[in-house]
Amino acid sequence: MARPKNVKHIFVTGGVVSSLGKGILSASLGLLLKSRGLRVAIQKYDPYINVDPGTMSPYQHGEVYVTDDGAETDLDLGHYERFLDEPTSQASNLTMGRVYKSVIDKERQGEYLGGTVQVVPHVIDEIKEKMNEQARSGSLDVLITEIGGTIGDIESLPFLEAMRQMKLDLGPRNLLNIHLTLVPYIKAACELKTKPTQHSVKMLLETGIQPDILVCRSEKPLSREIKNKVGHFCNLHESDVIGLNDCDTIYDVPLTLLNEQLDRRVLKKLNIKKYKEPEFAYWSEFLKKVKHPTDGEVTIAICGKYTEYPDAYKSILEAFVHAGAGNNVRVNVRLVRAEDAEENGHDVTAALKGVHGVLVAPGFGDRGIEGKIRFIRHARENDIPFFGICLGMQCASIEFARNVCNLGEANSTEFNKRCRQPVIDLMEHQKKVKEKGGTMRLGSYPCILKEGTRAYRAYGKFLINERHRHRYEFNNDYRDIFEEHEMAFSGTSPNGELAEIIELKSHRWFVGVQFHPEYKSRVHSVHPLFLGFVGAAKEFALGKSQLSFEPDALPLQQPEAPVQG
Ligand code: GLN
Repeated sequence: MARPKNVKHIFVTGGVVSSLGKGILSASLGLLLKSRGLRVAIQKYDPYINVDPGTMSPYQHGEVYVTDDGAETDLDLGHYERFLDEPTSQASNLTMGRVYKSVIDKERQGEYLGGTVQVVPHVIDEIKEKMNEQARSGSLDVLITEIGGTIGDIESLPFLEAMRQMKLDLGPRNLLNIHLTLVPYIKAACELKTKPTQHSVKMLLETGIQPDILVCRSEKPLSREIKNKVGHFCNLHESDVIGLNDCDTIYDVPLTLLNEQLDRRVLKKLNIKKYKEPEFAYWSEFLKKVKHPTDGEVTIAICGKYTEYPDAYKSILEAFVHAGAGNNVRVNVRLVRAEDAEENGHDVTAALKGVHGVLVAPGFGDRGIEGKIRFIRHARENDIPFFGICLGMQCASIEFARNVCNLGEANSTEFNKRCRQPVIDLMEHQKKVKEKGGTMRLGSYPCILKEGTRAYRAYGKFLINERHRHRYEFNNDYRDIFEEHEMAFSGTSPNGELAEIIELKSHRWFVGVQFHPEYKSRVHSVHPLFLGFVGAAKEFALGKSQLSFEPDALPLQQPEAPVQG
C-alpha cells in the first residue's frame, strides 16, 4: 500500500463565479491521469455545515448521490464515477459539518486535554488527518480533491489553510493547486477579459496559496497572447495557463484538456516519471455517438416535481446520454411537472404527445403524486415504454392496484397514513426510526432476478447489486393479486421478501425498480435497464410492433458477490 507521503495531491479550487465545472474538471483530469496508467481517486470537500446533503432539498443542492457503502453525497461524486469508472465512498465526500462534528465529539470526550479548541490548529489538523486517512486508504498514486465553493467565501477558508499547510509538509512536488476561473468575453468590446481571473488569484494569494496551474473557462479560445498576459499577472508560465472553451457536452472536456496538455503539465510538476501514452479510442467512439448518432432520436418524458431544476435529476440525465450512445440515438428529454397533471382538466395525452418513453422519477412527499399516477396510466394503457425509479415504481404499483386490480383505495402510507389499501408501506425496520439524516435504506443491496423476465434478459445474470435510498416498500399482502393480473416480480431481495423490480408481461416495456439504477450508469458501462428502456423507445419511435422488439440479450456473466446483506 502506498504511504501517504508517496501519494501526490491535486487540489482543484474555483474562482470568479460558481458553476464553472470544478467537478467536471476534476473528473476529466482524473480520467486523463488514469489513462496514463496512474491509480487515481477523487474526493469532494464541501464547506457547508450539514453533515451530508441527505437532508437538503434538491432545490438547494441538486441530486443526492448515493455510494455503494450508503453515503448520501454531493452530485459531483456521480461525475467522478461516470468518468473514472471507479466507485466512490463515504470517505470521498467530506463536509465542514462532518469536520466540526468530529472535533466537537473529541472535545466532549476530553481528547484535547483541557486545551482551548480552535479553528487553528484543531479544525485544520482534523482536515489534514482526514486527508491523510484517505490517501492511506487505497493503493493510490494521485488523490484529487475538489474544494466546493468559490475563492473569497469565508466558509471554505479552513480547507484552503489545510491545503497551504500540506504543501509545506509534503513539498511543492507532491501537491498542486489547480485553480479554475472564468475569462469572460465582452461582446461590445470583442475582447476576452482577464481581470476577474487576476483578482481571483490575488484573493488566493491572500490565503498564502500560489496556484500552480490555471484553467480558464471561456466562450472563445484563449490566444497565446492572453495566456501570456494571464500568466504574467498571476506569476505563471504561459504553458501553465490552460484554456477550457465551452464544450458541446461535458464528455468533450477530457479530450479538450488532453489537447491543452493539462495532464503533461501535471505529470511534470508532480515529478511523475512513470506513465504511458493515453488511450481514448473508446471515449472518442462514445463521443461520436453522443454528438452524431446515426439512428435518429427519441423523446423521453421525465415526470417529476423538481422539473425547473434539472440538477435534481443529474444522474438520470447522464444515464440517458450513455444509453442514447449505446443505442446510437439522440435522447431528447422533456421534463414534465407532475403537479400540473393533478388538475382535473389537464390533458395528459397532449403533455405526452411525441413522447417515446415515460420515466417517473424518484422523490419524497405527496406533491404531484396523482399527476404521476395519471402519466403512468397513460403509458400503460397506450403501450408506451415506461420506467419507474424508486418513487416511480411505487406510483406504478398504486396505479396498477387501483386501475387493474380494482383496489380503488390503494395508496402509499407516505401520502395517506390511514389509507385502507396500503400497497406501499413503511419498511418494518423504519417504523422506529425518528432521526432524519442517513437513516433510510441506503447503499448497495443484492437482488435476485427471475429467469425469463425482461430484467433478467437486460442484465444477463441472476445476481445484481444496486443502490437504494428509500423508507417505503411494496406491501407483500398484495403480491398475489398483482401476479394474478400479470404483474411479475422479476427482482427480489435474496430471501424473496422485498420486491425490487416489477414488470408487466403484456406491455412493450414497463419496468419499475425500487433501487436507483442511474447511480451506476457510466460511460464505460451503460446501465442495462437504461439501455433497454431507450432501446424500447427507439423501437416505439420507429413504429415497430411490440412483438418485433426483443431487448438486447447480453452474454451471461458470473454473479457478483453481494456487497451488503
Ligand atoms: N419516498 C419514497 C420512499 O422513501 C421513495 C424514495 C425515492 O424515490 N428515493 O420510499
